Amino acid sequence: MGWRTRFLAALAGVALATDAAAAPDVPQRVADGVWLIPGAVGGGRQPDGNTVVFDTGKALVVIDTGRHPAHRDAILAFAAERREPIVAVINSHWHLDHVSGNPALRAAYPGLKVYASNAIDEALTGFLARSAAQARELMAAGKVPPGSVGELKADLATTDNGEALKPDIVVTKSGSARFGALSLRFNLAPNAATARDVWVYDEPRRIVAAGDLVTLPAAFLDTACPAGWSAALAAIDATPFDTLVPGHGAPMTHDEFRTYRRAFDGLVDCAATDASKAACAERWVSDLGGLLPSDQTAMARGMSGYYVEQVLRRPAALPCGRP
Ligand SMILES: [Zn+2]
Repeated sequence: MGWRTRFLAALAGVALATDAAAAPDVPQRVADGVWLIPGAVGGGRQPDGNTVVFDTGKALVVIDTGRHPAHRDAILAFAAERREPIVAVINSHWHLDHVSGNPALRAAYPGLKVYASNAIDEALTGFLARSAAQARELMAAGKVPPGSVGELKADLATTDNGEALKPDIVVTKSGSARFGALSLRFNLAPNAATARDVWVYDEPRRIVAAGDLVTLPAAFLDTACPAGWSAALAAIDATPFDTLVPGHGAPMTHDEFRTYRRAFDGLVDCAATDASKAACAERWVSDLGGLLPSDQTAMARGMSGYYVEQVLRRPAALPCGRP
């Protein structure tokens, strides 16, 4: 989720002050050799994306690096405690809550290679540049809440240093990569949550790391093409995984993922009818059922209603034509 969302969502009267269920930044085991470092959502600040860490046997591979210093520090502390270097970072997509820790991890492990699609190139000259300009205007006009100025400045510093976020190895198509004893399948999803998302499958352990193709409490549609996103969810569903780690929220089973997928397609379908945005938001919440933490219901309703009105019902603005 971009910082822009939060400001626009705040203007739309959406409360974002709910606490996430999992303790943020505290590593939790997903399977043997796989951990989740949960990103914080809520608490009145911008989110961090989830980080997934794989042990190759003698080194670590890290998926996504968060936004805030506390999150990247948790990744570095985890590696230091295990006495294993981080040899690779895989960015699921370029949103700042998933890539901002790249420079710090690179500085700590100079041999580290970043794997990602090159969608960040056009984002840095397009969406992120426009967002930064808008942020500077809001700050100059004194329209940013005092408590958010520090965070916004940190995001601006991150985008100003955009070259340091870019991949060393550009993922241009789906395929497998080997890191020591670890083999991961990279799946390139075009025109999904961003122009080119990457989701990862660990076949031996039947684990998917989905990035922001799966997020709670809402699907963050700011830079999305809904049709491509839906196709990516179908491809994930066709993969024989048992556990899926979303970009935000707790790990889920395959059945739980199917609930999410149905809810996503339901929201897109609803937006194409003349139902009210509140009715579509209600459908999102009810389709998710128990998958949605109860303390995130208000946030889910507010954000999904916002996306129906501001994104899904503005088809001309949907970025679905990217190569
Ligand atoms: Zn995110």
